[in-house]
Amino acid sequence: MDLRQHIRGVPDFPKPGILFYDISTLLRHGPAWHEAVARMAEAIRPHAPTMLAGIESRGFLLAAPLALQLGLGFVMLRKRGKLPGATIGLDYALEYGTDRIEIQADAVRPGERVVILDDLLATGGTMAAGIELLRKAGAEVPAAAALIELTFLKGRERLDVPCEVLVSYD
Ligand code: 5GP
Repeated sequence: MDLRQHIRGVPDFPKPGILFYDISTLLRHGPAWHEAVARMAEAIRPHAPTMLAGIESRGFLLAAPLALQLGLGFVMLRKRGKLPGATIGLDYALEYGTDRIEIQADAVRPGERVVILDDLLATGGTMAAGIELLRKAGAEVPAAAALIELTFLKGRERLDVPCEVLVSYD
């Protein structure tokens, strides 16, 4: 099955000149979504994770079904101020300004092998921040994974771990 046929490119979203890859059409199609999760599970398995992490919010859509498929737990990396209790945070640079992601301080045990998931790898800034935050919380990060990679933005060059992807655009 060609997953590419189920991903829609939306011009001028969220700003003029940006082509946004919309995964809503993939999520809506039962067999394609099932196939995407199954393929992602097989790509992640060799990295021997003991836990998964998803980046808010579309990363959660992958982390949850993959955790069930692989028999693992998963942890949420959330935007500022959303998580109750003690948290560890990391500020990272955006195109304009900064953003902050947080994890609950007791979310991972030291040495836990956590594979991090997001829907799409663009410049790699979000994924790199997620990896750094997981390490700050005590995790090892053997790999990252995303449904889609925008290869021309060279995001994987910012990562010091392998990144598994199912569909690339260049
Ligand atoms: P980066 O930090 O790698 O530049 O951007 C990746 C983040 O922005 C991801 O969290 C992803 O959800 C979001 N993102 C950027 N562009 C797109 C896009 O075209 N489609 C989707 N679905 N997400 C995008």
